[in-house]
Amino acid sequence: MMGKKTAEGTRVITCHLGNGSSITAVKDGKSIDTSMGFTPLEGVPMGTRCGSMDPAVVTYLMDKKNMTAAEVNSYMNKKSGMLGLSGVSSDFRDLGEGAKTNERCDIALRSFAYNVKKYIGAYSAAMNGVDAIVFTAGVGENDRGMREMILRGLDYLGVEVDYDYNMNCPRGEEVEISTKSSRVKVFVIPTDEEMVIAQDTARLAK
Ligand code: AMP
Repeated sequence: MMGKKTAEGTRVITCHLGNGSSITAVKDGKSIDTSMGFTPLEGVPMGTRCGSMDPAVVTYLMDKKNMTAAEVNSYMNKKSGMLGLSGVSSDFRDLGEGAKTNERCDIALRSFAYNVKKYIGAYSAAMNGVDAIVFTAGVGENDRGMREMILRGLDYLGVEVDYDYNMNCPRGEEVEISTKSSRVKVFVIPTDEEMVIAQDTARLAK
């Protein structure tokens, strides 16, 4: 991915965007921060998970809506995020179609892009800059319009994207969508979670 560079001295932000999404800051090849927390609920809004919000929402729902702890937990995990914002679907394909006529679908997509952008800004600050941004998983690999929404307006960081190529690049392989002169490289890289899980399991079992 980084040509002949070794991981030492590199600052990478990975945007794993799918039904579940997490953004990770990777410095010198090691993850130093990630958007999920105690549970996968923290971070950006996801397909049906709410993502980060004011913790007071939990007691509000219990007090005002008479929800039990289990009901709040289920609500935050299964009825929130893109599904809750749009009121229509958790699937970004449906939301892309829906946004043509339904304002709530459009709001859900813009909210998602805004939240991913905030993490890119935060992690760039945490690492004193960024050398590469990586998009992966169902949305990151396939939703070209979402990539554009996230990447537009990051020129202050040195991000220059070839938006025509972003819209037309091949699927299912590693591609670079930044311009030659971009200070920050932007890649789309197919995820391989099963291989990483297998490798980590083998390492731990040793
Ligand atoms: P994952 O959890 O990584 O399997 O991602 C699944 C999600 O990726 C689906 O729910 C869709 O929202 C999204 N997705 C898959 N294909 C596309 C596509 N062609 N365009 C937009 N979103 C897509």
